[in-house]
Amino acid sequence: MTISSLLGPRDPAPVEVLNPTGKAPLLLICEHAGQAVPARLSGLGVTQDQLDAHIGWDIGAAGVTRRLAKALDAPAVLQTYSRLVIDCNRPPEAADSMPEVSDGHVIPGNRGLAEADRQARIDEIFAPYQAAVADMLDRAPFRATVSIHSFTPRMNGFDRPWDIGFLFRRDEATSTRIARTLAAQAPELTIGMNQPYQVDDASDWFVPRIGEARGLCHSLIEIRNDHIRSSTGQALWADRLSHGLRPLIMEHLT
Ligand SMILES: [Zn+2]
Repeated sequence: MTISSLLGPRDPAPVEVLNPTGKAPLLLICEHAGQAVPARLSGLGVTQDQLDAHIGWDIGAAGVTRRLAKALDAPAVLQTYSRLVIDCNRPPEAADSMPEVSDGHVIPGNRGLAEADRQARIDEIFAPYQAAVADMLDRAPFRATVSIHSFTPRMNGFDRPWDIGFLFRRDEATSTRIARTLAAQAPELTIGMNQPYQVDDASDWFVPRIGEARGLCHSLIEIRNDHIRSSTGQALWADRLSHGLRPLIMEHLT
């Protein structure tokens, strides 16, 4: 029996699976959906305002993912804890998996972490979350997977001009296809390809370790977070993306 050294009885489960029997052959993933902090970590020494900002979670991403799961009848896996506790879209050995500083904010609860404390976050949050994703992908005939994120409009003194970005590496076709469908319905959008980030093995998990490793059609989608702060914005972007993703789903259903 494993004894928990991190999560207590009042802490939420690290993973939420929505609509597990959804019919679409597409698994939605949201690694930065939540902003919970295990009670034993005493809030990591940060303020609620910091947890509410982009360093704490991906603002609006969970709301878009939930609406997309419903609109597409697709299963979705959402991660519950703040990315400051452990970033589930990075390898646990990555330098910023449990960042001591995030976008200029010192995270006191991450300073000088003991190996056992790092391992507890991996064992009790990262591992069960990734196991839930693997379990879903193992048991259903998924053909595609999409990860939903949001990004801050301004970073390191630079205004990011994109409304939405698609991140990919080997599977350029899936992102291009979704982007084209989106551009056709909303030509006013500024769409970034491999913006505002680029994927690499050292700092990313979803693209290399899930999409590419399993040979699925995949794309990591980044929506600018000022578009999806409100439920109205989340509904608009979920609607846009559901239209963008439908041709992909139809292709694999027929
Ligand atoms: Zn993210």
